[in-house]
Amino acid sequence: MTASHVPSSPPPAHPGPSATQPASPAGPGSARPLLDLATPRRGKPPRHFADLSAQARREAVEHLGEPAYRARQLSTHYFGRLETDVAAMTDIPASRRPALAASLFPELLHRVRALTADAGTTVKTLWRLHDGALVESVLMRYPDRATVCISSQAGCGMACPFCATGQQGLTRNLSTAEIVGQVVDAARALRDGDIAGGRGRLSNVVFMGMGEPMANYRTVVDVVHRLVDPAPDGLGLSARGITVSTVGLVPRIDQLRTEGLPVTLAVSLHAPDDELRDELVPINTRWKVGEVLAAAWRYAEATGRRVSIEYAMIRDINDQAWRADLLGRLLAGRLAHVNLIPLNPTPGSKWTASRRSDEAEFVRRLKARGVPVTVRDTRGRDIDGACGQLAATG
Ligand code: SAH
Repeated sequence: MTASHVPSSPPPAHPGPSATQPASPAGPGSARPLLDLATPRRGKPPRHFADLSAQARREAVEHLGEPAYRARQLSTHYFGRLETDVAAMTDIPASRRPALAASLFPELLHRVRALTADAGTTVKTLWRLHDGALVESVLMRYPDRATVCISSQAGCGMACPFCATGQQGLTRNLSTAEIVGQVVDAARALRDGDIAGGRGRLSNVVFMGMGEPMANYRTVVDVVHRLVDPAPDGLGLSARGITVSTVGLVPRIDQLRTEGLPVTLAVSLHAPDDELRDELVPINTRWKVGEVLAAAWRYAEATGRRVSIEYAMIRDINDQAWRADLLGRLLAGRLAHVNLIPLNPTPGSKWTASRRSDEAEFVRRLKARGVPVTVRDTRGRDIDGACGQLAATG
């Protein structure tokens, strides 16, 4: 896929992120809108305990003829002990477990396969959802932290031409429990010592797997509550360790600012100028670089959190010295940090990662303006588990 495949004219007018018209099927070769912001209604997964607020959990167990305190027992097992199998919850009467399992703990994520890389410290899992949709999550263990990269949608409607998921189109939004389940599984694997390096704890969650989290906004906010609520109501993770990454849906960035959840915001910029960003991140035809960055600075100011600016380094496309200078001018003096990601070429792509020398010059020019910058490592590259490679082919 090259830039020339992307129409240079703006996409047809579309009704925006709040629209609810059904998505068109996005099989190979099928016509689909360039930008697909619809909220598909197909394939709604069965209700799961993790979809429910604490109050709704009490109501749900009472509806099943259980005492309200059963909700707290179940929460302690699921969020506190990462136990997903009701049959193993031995403080609940054995006769009651099958009904609770059937109505509140359906299997939402079926592990199709798990691939490891980096001496067992990176694990990519392919999950099949109840309706056959496939998504992936990647667990990465470092000496000082462990991060799980999770999917918020099956496919993605944002159509970024360099991204493997972007080539698929959107299948559907994931439910709260489908997303929380990816995190619970990673936390359990670390706790049980299933990942090289012995027993550990999950410290970070990044919404950088498949999908555009801001296009599944309500659910993603709900997920963050489950992740940060203290046990037994949630996993008790620190909001600072959670990163929501977006192409730049400006109204949603502004909304997230008001949620009182100081998660880290990552903006996938990839170009400092509208002409190129219109091609690399097609939603830019709707919200321009200046508008996205203005929303990012509002977010930084309100939360005190440094915004992460993601920039995939694509050889001779966005890695020129003048673009480094322009990016440096846009970011100088701001509460921002640049994450340069060497492009992971997707199958059939004629784009490739920048030369080391161009990358070094890009870094030098940003640093010269006092802009903090790091070059992201490419964990899991050999298992297609690196950034933007998640294509979920069964
Ligand atoms: N939709 C969200 C989150 C998912 S992608 C977003 O766009 O931010 C997570 C990050 O990986 C984004 O910064 C995305 O632009 C980047 N990415 C996608 N494809 C990539 C590729 N082939 N190489 C490097 N980074 C890529």
